[in-house]
Amino acid sequence: MAKKTGNTPEQEAVVLAVTKTCRGPYLISEERQQLGFEAWRAVEDTDEKGARQLIKDLIQEANNHTPSGMVLDRALPEEEGNWPALKRIALPLIRLRGDEVGQGCGWDLNEEILKHPFDGAEHMTDCPQCGIEISWKAPVFYDAPGS
Ligand SMILES: [Zn+2]
Repeated sequence: MAKKTGNTPEQEAVVLAVTKTCRGPYLISEERQQLGFEAWRAVEDTDEKGARQLIKDLIQEANNHTPSGMVLDRALPEEEGNWPALKRIALPLIRLRGDEVGQGCGWDLNEEILKHPFDGAEHMTDCPQCGIEISWKAPVFYDAPGS
């Protein structure tokens, strides 16, 4: 019943060598994320104390969702005024995926990838397990020069 994809078993083995699983839904709704981004913009580059507190609050909130025994933490830069580092910590905390707090979905995306030709095309797939939309790109294999 397998759809003809033109992919070779060797190519499929390369794809399967890398585990790709569904990361699960975002921890908080899009609306709450927007509030988080607004809160961040209100302090960014101007109020470092407020920014550090916001990051601590985000970590605390994430930990309210973690299974017992799992603790999410981020090391804040010790030096003052390191806004790039603070930003790199804060923004992903606002858009945390379930897998970062032990609530990943785990569905094997490779199952889906192997059903399609390895042509570099962009795809959107609804996860059959948790329902989120996953965007992914088909792999591409190039012949070695001279072969
Ligand atoms: Zn899923």
